[in-house]
Amino acid sequence: MTVAGNAALWQRLNALGLLQGPRGWAFALCAAVAIAATLAIILSLLAWRATLKPAVTLLLLATAVASHFMLSYGVLMDYGMLLNAFQTDRSEAAALLNLGLFGSVLLLAAWPAAWLWRQPVAYGRLRRQLWRNPALAAGALAVLALAVLAMFQPLASTMRNHKDLRYMINPLAGVVSAVRVAARPLQRPSLPMEPLGLDARLQPAPAGARPRLLLLVLGETARSDHFSLNGYARPTTPQLQQQAGVLSFVNAWSCGTSTAESVPCMFSDLGRSRYKARNRDREGLLDVLQHAGLAVLWLDNQSGCKGVCDRVPHAAMDQAACPGGACPDEAMLDTLQARIAALDPARRARGVVVVLHQMGSHGPAYYQRSAPGQKRFLPECTRNALQDCSREEVVNAYDNSIVATDRFLGQAIDWLRRNPTGTDNTLLYVSDHGESLGENNLYLHGMPYAIAPDAQKHVPWITWLAPGSAQAAVLSQPCLRAQAAAPVSHDHYFHSVLGLMAVSTEAYKPALDAYAACRSGDPALNASAAQAPPRSAAPGSTTPPRSAPKPADKTSEG
Ligand SMILES: [Zn+2]
Repeated sequence: MTVAGNAALWQRLNALGLLQGPRGWAFALCAAVAIAATLAIILSLLAWRATLKPAVTLLLLATAVASHFMLSYGVLMDYGMLLNAFQTDRSEAAALLNLGLFGSVLLLAAWPAAWLWRQPVAYGRLRRQLWRNPALAAGALAVLALAVLAMFQPLASTMRNHKDLRYMINPLAGVVSAVRVAARPLQRPSLPMEPLGLDARLQPAPAGARPRLLLLVLGETARSDHFSLNGYARPTTPQLQQQAGVLSFVNAWSCGTSTAESVPCMFSDLGRSRYKARNRDREGLLDVLQHAGLAVLWLDNQSGCKGVCDRVPHAAMDQAACPGGACPDEAMLDTLQARIAALDPARRARGVVVVLHQMGSHGPAYYQRSAPGQKRFLPECTRNALQDCSREEVVNAYDNSIVATDRFLGQAIDWLRRNPTGTDNTLLYVSDHGESLGENNLYLHGMPYAIAPDAQKHVPWITWLAPGSAQAAVLSQPCLRAQAAAPVSHDHYFHSVLGLMAVSTEAYKPALDAYAACRSGDPALNASAAQAPPRSAAPGSTTPPRSAPKPADKTSEG
């Protein structure tokens, strides 16, 4: 486990130049002794007849699986990654199974475990074990302390400068994160759900105004810098570029780097920093919209809504009913009219908010996210083991999935234009997080936020206002275009949606409404909009720190 199971860690330390020369070897030796001693502490406490072999086997299995994902995708065994692993579904997991994983389990777990189970172990009498096991743990602790002391100087600076290393110590990082995830329900007292926006009301609309329909397309794994609409050199978004009324905020940033982190945070009023620190569950955006009397619907073509749609009407696409057992995102539009018609008519008359949770660019099987006849960039990677494909093939497959999302958004806009529901229509498309496509050997997403590359955090934020609609009349498009490059983040999502639906509530903060500064003549929010500063002046504490996207990143694949 220490030597072979930590190949990813040794590789990374070597790449950082920490294993060169005699000092490097000494550092490696101390690190290996420290890891082995920690494993010895854990196992000596479990060294009982009933538990030792199962415990070693489990640790070997964890080592093999974590080692495979760290080496293949550059993922880290942090809290967020383990949370994602526990919340995954069968199809998501199946997409990650491949020969490499099988080989890793065979070599690092099955083979040593088979050897272990055939070894006779002399456990001795119970009374002897009662003092011997703790004594062994204490001895290992002393060895650990000596090893840490011996390498303290290089260790302290290395850990401070390279925060990712602590999540690469195998299998300990995975075990610690798994325990933290498992202990989560214990930490949070089971307080009742904290209500939010019970005072929410729709502002009175002018006589004869049609009810508003807002289609919230919740994107999956889409990178802002791979949209030609946002300056990417390849034509990935022809549909969005030819539609009138499309506005893109090109400087938008996610709350987290995974679905499980980002989605609940987007639909919360707390914003990134306060959401992470919350100590009880709290109602979110969809609850507030419902309190305001609006009809709300969540339609899922992904792995679920992560709790944000629990108290509103929701449905998931029946994957078995779609060809090949997987529904394309377009299939959500086929049933949309009937699903909206089935909502409470009194609520519908006030207005409708529908969330379409996309499959989008969900990896690693990007090639499955675009239809065979519509592939624009070839050759594409057709494996789940992305590192076995060339960088170009991976990017081709990914860009084809962006083209498919563009097509889907074009169809959604066409659907809204035909207006089968007789409403005043708006579409807002925002992705949950981005994706690494092999830059610095990183793949997929889910890196700890503080050290995640921009590729995993820079997301598209695209608005479509129906030309001639009342919404288009109150929002100044030249003003919004002028603000297109101002920073915006998932912190703005909650308040922007309330603003678009003209919901007034204590929970609404105009300063975090991305549209507020460009709104005029809307009786709904006029008063508060006057106080809203332009987004470029948004308070720094509410938007995550970030660096501007580098133009070189945008065009490197072009
Ligand atoms: Zn996601």
